[in-house]
Amino acid sequence: MGLKYKRVLLKISGEALAGDKGFGLDQEFLGEICSSIKKATDMGVEIAIVVGGGNFWRGRHGKGMDRTTSDHMGMLATVINALALADALEAKGVPTRVQTAIDMRRIAEPYIRGRAIRHLEKKRVVIFACGTGNPYFTTDTAAALRAAEIDADAILLAKNVDAVYDSDPKVNRNAVKIDKITYLEMLNRQLGVMDSTASTLCMDNNIPVIVFGIKDPDNILRVLTGENIGTYIAR
Ligand code: UDP
Repeated sequence: MGLKYKRVLLKISGEALAGDKGFGLDQEFLGEICSSIKKATDMGVEIAIVVGGGNFWRGRHGKGMDRTTSDHMGMLATVINALALADALEAKGVPTRVQTAIDMRRIAEPYIRGRAIRHLEKKRVVIFACGTGNPYFTTDTAAALRAAEIDADAILLAKNVDAVYDSDPKVNRNAVKIDKITYLEMLNRQLGVMDSTASTLCMDNNIPVIVFGIKDPDNILRVLTGENIGTYIAR
């Protein structure tokens, strides 16, 4: 099987890690995701992961709270997910390193670009936690930023929905799936796939984004081998 991408940034939303539970971690499902990631690394793909935190906390959930404090809580949520993911990968024999954008050296390495690249070259899965390390950003923006920094071939945006639709498929039964779209059209139509900061960062740095459903974790392998699933976003 030929590989379309050699080094990728896999973005896993927090929601995806909750499986059907909607909150927290579904460890069984986490194991399934890690089995697919292991298959990908066995094929020689270099994988860096940015995890979200929405299964525990999102900045905007903090009603009446100081936004920066609430965002700090969201970034801490991504650390819980990163540690869980690393543990589940290690249990399957995949070497991993967690790097955090906010230093917490007793728990993980600080984010250092050169070290991250070295880990990837040594076929370790690098998991980036704390997003960008700044409030008012999202982990999608962190995915775009890290993808640019590590020179990833593409961003694999793993979601609970299987693609980008012209309207919300949960609300509109007649929503139409979009196979391919440009960043600009996505932004203009406000399709809500990624926030605008993340989208423009991908556009400016010419990083293709593939949105796909993680409910079948082997979809990661389908995207890597160039199968046309989900939605392909590029210039
Ligand atoms: N967050 C932040 N800065 C970042 C990344 C994340 O402040 O660079 C906070 C923000 O509050 C966000 C939360 O962490 O709501 C969880 O991240 P996100 O909502 O992107 O997670 P996902 O939706 O992918 O689960």
